[in-house]
Amino acid sequence: MHNSFSKKDFYNELQKRFPEVEFLLDEPMKKHTTFRIGGPADIYVEPSVSQVVPLIAFLKESDVPFMVIGNGSNLLVSDDGIEGVVISMGKSSSEIIIDDAKGEIYAEAGAMLSSVANRAADAGLTGLEFASGIPGSIGGAVYMNAGAYGGEMKDVLTSVQILKADGQVEDVSVDKLDLSYRHSALMENPGIVLGAKLQLTVGNVADIKATIDDIRQKRIEKQPLNFPSAGSTFKRPEGYFAGKLIDDTGLRGYTVGGAQVSEKHCGFVVNKSDATASDVLKLMKDVDEKVYEKFGVHLTPEVRIIGRNVN
Ligand SMILES: Cc1cc2nc3c(=O)[nH]c(=O)nc-3n(C[C@H](O)[C@H](O)[C@H](O)COP(=O)(O)OP(=O)(O)OC[C@H]3O[C@@H](n4cnc5c(N)ncnc54)[C@H](O)[C@@H]3O)c2cc1C
Repeated sequence: MHNSFSKKDFYNELQKRFPEVEFLLDEPMKKHTTFRIGGPADIYVEPSVSQVVPLIAFLKESDVPFMVIGNGSNLLVSDDGIEGVVISMGKSSSEIIIDDAKGEIYAEAGAMLSSVANRAADAGLTGLEFASGIPGSIGGAVYMNAGAYGGEMKDVLTSVQILKADGQVEDVSVDKLDLSYRHSALMENPGIVLGAKLQLTVGNVADIKATIDDIRQKRIEKQPLNFPSAGSTFKRPEGYFAGKLIDDTGLRGYTVGGAQVSEKHCGFVVNKSDATASDVLKLMKDVDEKVYEKFGVHLTPEVRIIGRNVN
């Protein structure tokens, strides 16, 4: 952080400048990640879309590091926490506007995919069923080009409202986002997703809801939803499935500290009992090495590893 500010002084300064926003000091990130892992963020805040633009301008002006997160469902946060300000696009930025007749949806970055998918279903709009069980926000889903069951965000997005590094807010059309398997241009050219426009098509409410139920059922059957996790730990290497490679290497149930390769689905690492980020990182390294030894294939993380002393 900026040398001339202590964390506490900067927190006081933020409270003075943005009296309508609630800032939290030394907020444990394990409260904000589905893995239930992570040390404290120096300062944590959940602003609305209109609050986030001036806030970020001020952080840049003050030369204080910050990062934006969504629902924390694809994050492994360091045990040493995160330096600077963590901005969570959550409940305060989760408006969803639907134009049933045109099949258009505008959702703010913090809206949960499940809420958008359920609202679309109620409006008789089809195309987003694939996303109903992904526990992420619209912002995180755009950033990751989240996908499942044959669909991905790329198929339904038309444009994304982005706060760019130069402080301008711009509507960026989907073809400029370079969306591919768990990749977006935002990974190379940082920008903050404020909201997204989706185009769906008119369908039958009962059919849409049946598909959502079917997907929910499949997830319950296949995924270890009874333990905290961040979903698939590794990306799918071309021509393989990470879970199968891990299983075929004999690592089902492999454990480091409180972290375990799920016994139910080897593609997931679960927090079995008070796992630390170090446990998970060690386990991921071991798994990659052992799979490489056996199959000559490296596994790259799908989870975003963030915070102090992890890179
Ligand atoms: C049980 C379980 C099942 C899952 N199943 C799937 C699945 O089927 N398919 C799938 O693709 N994923 C799946 N995931 C992973 C995860 O839900 C997705 O990657 C999701 O898109 C992450 O969204 P999030 O809001 O939680 O983002 P976070 O985890 O909070 O953040 C992920 C990344 O996005 C960035 N980001 C977040 N919000 C913004 C924003 N507004 N602007 C710019 N950058 C932002 C963050 O900086 C970070 O780099 C699963 C996870 C769990 C726990």
